[in-house]
Amino acid sequence: MEGSPGEAARPKRIAYVLPVYNEEENIAVFQTALAEATAQRPDLEFEFVYVDDGSRDASLEQLVALRQQDPRVSVVQFSRNFGHQLAVTAGLDLVAETDGADAVIVMDTDLQDPPRVSLEMIERWEGGVDVVYAQRRTRKDTFFKRATAWWFYWALDRLASIEIPRNVGDFRLMDARVVAEIARYREHDRFLRGIVAHVGFRQEALPFDRDERYAGKTGYPLKKMLNFAASGILGFSTAPLKMISRLGFAISAFSALLACYVLFVRLFRPEESVPGWAFLGVGMFMLSGIQLVMMGVIGSYLGRVYVEAQDRPLYTIAMVARDSASAVPRRH
Ligand code: UDP
Ligand code: MG
Repeated sequence: MEGSPGEAARPKRIAYVLPVYNEEENIAVFQTALAEATAQRPDLEFEFVYVDDGSRDASLEQLVALRQQDPRVSVVQFSRNFGHQLAVTAGLDLVAETDGADAVIVMDTDLQDPPRVSLEMIERWEGGVDVVYAQRRTRKDTFFKRATAWWFYWALDRLASIEIPRNVGDFRLMDARVVAEIARYREHDRFLRGIVAHVGFRQEALPFDRDERYAGKTGYPLKKMLNFAASGILGFSTAPLKMISRLGFAISAFSALLACYVLFVRLFRPEESVPGWAFLGVGMFMLSGIQLVMMGVIGSYLGRVYVEAQDRPLYTIAMVARDSASAVPRRH
């Protein structure tokens, strides 16, 4: 950052980390828009790190073609589809490992995140902010997506041990020191926006209007969205585990009251009988239902422990095309 006086002349370097999954119709338009936007800052050096997350269409070929036109484009190819969060992680790792940039911007490649907003992020960063995250003022997603997102953020807000800002995706700028710190978080079920919040430093929101996807369809169907939501809650909160014991106490207290009632009727009202089997049946089903749900909660945490204990590599890279690529592969 400060460096010796000789270094002061070096232009600041900004790396864009751009995850790609089946975006053949978007890539060229996106890169043109991004190149146009970044051309407004000739005083900065840019690198565009595209991570192809095992696309099944012609995305990779398009990326390679982009690189031939513009050497600032780097391409990382995954051996298969590892998911958006890992694609972003791989891009961040690459930049962190090679001392590649003073700041990194993560954005989607479907033109939902407007490139011009990233320029505003750079200005904020130059003003001394370490993390500038884009906060959706409006979003043009379906009602269903907006409703589920709202519930998810509500639950996360109440449960998570740290404050994770609402309506914030992964579109953000991070200073190099934040990126270096994130590289030390090696959990497998990743929820990057939680990790960034956990890292700290000076973070600010930048409101923006999220556009519609330019072409193609979302790579986040409902199942992936639910898994992702679970990663957010399980990864940043043990509240569900605590809720189990609280519920256990509540049910125990309730049954103690019931026992008192039965005892009272037996001792002091022998002429009345305690009506029994219907209540028992309902109680039995309810309790076993609750118990199964609770075992599920424990199971979810256990599953995470298992995955972490296996400690497999987070992702596998098939190919890197980059000018300053470090040839040494590292275990992730
Ligand atoms: N993406 C990815 N791997 C996946 C799914 C998506 O790298 O398995 C990329 C995708 O190309 C896009 C970004 O992640 O650049 C966001 O995905 P998408 O637009 O499908 O999600 P949405 O905006 O609908 O939440
Ligand atoms: Mg999108």
